[in-house]
Amino acid sequence: MLTYKAPLRDMKFLMNDVFDFQTHYKTLNTGENADAETVDMILQGMADFAEGVISPLYQPADEEGCKFDNGEVTTPTGFKDAYQQYVEGGWQGVSYPEEYGGMNLPMSLNLVKSEMIGTANWPWSMYPGLSTGCINTILHYGDKEQKDLYLPKLVEGSWSGTMCLTEAQAGTDLGQVKTKAEPNDDGTFRINGTKIFISSGEHDLTDNIVHIVLARLPHAPEGTKGISLFIVPKFIPDADGEAGERNGVTCGSIEHKMGISSSATCVLNFDDATGYLIGKPHKGLRAMFTFMNTARMGTAIQAVAHSELAFQNALPYAKERRSMRALSGTKEPNEVADTIINHADVRRLLLTMKAFAEGGRSMIYHAARYADKMAEGIAEGDEEKFEKWDDKIGFYTPVLKGFLTEIANEVAKHGIQIYGGHGYIKEWGMELIARDARISTLYEGTTGVQALDLLGRKVILGSKGKVVRDYTASVMKWCGEYALDKDMRKFVWALTKLCAEWNTLTVRIMLMARKDREIISAACDDYLMYAGYTMMAYHWARMAAVAYKKLEEGGEESPEFYKAKIQTAEFYFDKILPRASGHAESMMTPSEVMTGMDAESFSFLD
Ligand SMILES: Cc1cc2nc3c(=O)[nH]c(=O)nc-3n(C[C@H](O)[C@H](O)[C@H](O)COP(=O)(O)OP(=O)(O)OC[C@H]3O[C@@H](n4cnc5c(N)ncnc54)[C@H](O)[C@@H]3O)c2cc1C
Repeated sequence: MLTYKAPLRDMKFLMNDVFDFQTHYKTLNTGENADAETVDMILQGMADFAEGVISPLYQPADEEGCKFDNGEVTTPTGFKDAYQQYVEGGWQGVSYPEEYGGMNLPMSLNLVKSEMIGTANWPWSMYPGLSTGCINTILHYGDKEQKDLYLPKLVEGSWSGTMCLTEAQAGTDLGQVKTKAEPNDDGTFRINGTKIFISSGEHDLTDNIVHIVLARLPHAPEGTKGISLFIVPKFIPDADGEAGERNGVTCGSIEHKMGISSSATCVLNFDDATGYLIGKPHKGLRAMFTFMNTARMGTAIQAVAHSELAFQNALPYAKERRSMRALSGTKEPNEVADTIINHADVRRLLLTMKAFAEGGRSMIYHAARYADKMAEGIAEGDEEKFEKWDDKIGFYTPVLKGFLTEIANEVAKHGIQIYGGHGYIKEWGMELIARDARISTLYEGTTGVQALDLLGRKVILGSKGKVVRDYTASVMKWCGEYALDKDMRKFVWALTKLCAEWNTLTVRIMLMARKDREIISAACDDYLMYAGYTMMAYHWARMAAVAYKKLEEGGEESPEFYKAKIQTAEFYFDKILPRASGHAESMMTPSEVMTGMDAESFSFLD
């Protein structure tokens, strides 16, 4: 049976010692209320809810799944009650403005909260999670009437939200969206079309569901330039702002999936549904990006969540399961065999899991500080501020989403491996983590799309390499501070070399791309993974630096925690970081190696 314990010690290490959130909060308007005591209270409250309320539901709910009957979806036993407790605790509103009923705390606290509930029970967390993007979109692009009507209920959590982009023919390529929006005389729109794969599209947790829908106005330009965004509530709000008349949006079916079976993935039919334009006509995709950046960050958190849960549950097993003797000599002579944690190869698996879970958390908490500034821009209606920080996050988003979800699948695989054959058996839950983690590289833009976004849009077209020059300059500046530190020398030396190499690789790819555009597609996956391993190296070096300092200072905290951080950093640099070299070499392969083969020559089946 899987169990979850919130890693508060590690979270606080990052928030207090590595990134000094308290000083950062002083630079925010929303930071006023986020004093150390309040932050601790939020962390503890969320940990209690995650560990005690939703974690025990995770495995049984997977077995039970969601039920579909005549357009209605019933979530698994316990989900509704847990959701009610979540609403009563005010948890949905942690980072939203007080005028809509929120606590007005920084967005980073919402992300930390998402990590805890996501690790305890990812599919459950998707119901409130999808609402976050909906709230952000209405906050950013809605008019006053829309904000006043929808935000209080969404922030309270009594209504939930969805994002309705995908159609059967239009997934990655949203330019192919066909759903139609025709104007009514009263300023509303008639929405007709079918959306597929809509998470939380129908369920029994809330009084109303607010769909954010991509659709085309009559005579709209072809492709992505002709898409507009609409609010389509399941129940049209009445004069008192309560869920009123039933709208023409119904759930046609739910998907039977490999994982996240307790998250309802719905086909939604829009039949003359009443919709309300949000933002400007034909600018829907731009507006949807607010939604998507939040959602992609959410998926990166999913990666850390699965990594953490797999690691937490593999470790005790490795300390109990006995098999053979350690090669260096018997460790437990009074037992029939040594525990498997005594074998270096099992330690390789465990340390990889630990390095990825904690390294990924550090990468997210770092970006969360930019999310704080971006969210403040949205809440204050300050477009310039929003754009500035959205741009900054834009460089990190594809790496966090693409790289962390790929390595989370590796962690989940290692979790099964540590359990041996038992890992393949449902009872232990390790196969559940692997099944649930698998979706993370697919939705919110596949890894391929993240990689193209990073190399094509952010690095080459968007900045001609400047984003990499800026990022590596900041890493090298940090390395400079430790140049004479003998403990840190091995880390900063490796990082400095990587920074120089990353810039060289970027220039070489840009030059190659002038003659051969396909190289961007051919090299982007290697580029993404290279960027991910390099960024994570920087994070492990930073954590090691803080750990050395803490050990030197002494104090009340146990030194073992810091020693383990340094040892994990060493493991990461010695055993994992060499993978970056392979990606560096591979990304320089001419695209011809991939594009050269005729499509008909891939197989010669009769
Ligand atoms: C469980 C689940 C939940 C989901 N939740 C939602 C939701 O709430 N709302 C919503 O709107 N959608 C949702 N989706 C849809 C999801 O976002 C899409 O499935 C995803 O974006 C991929 O689209 P697709 O399935 O059409 O694949 P395709 O776009 O057909 O892609 C197929 C393959 O081709 C590759 N590819 C495509 N174009 C390119 C290119 N230009 N260059 C290189 N490679 C390319 C892709 O990387 C992928 O490997 C969900 C899907 C699932 C399975």
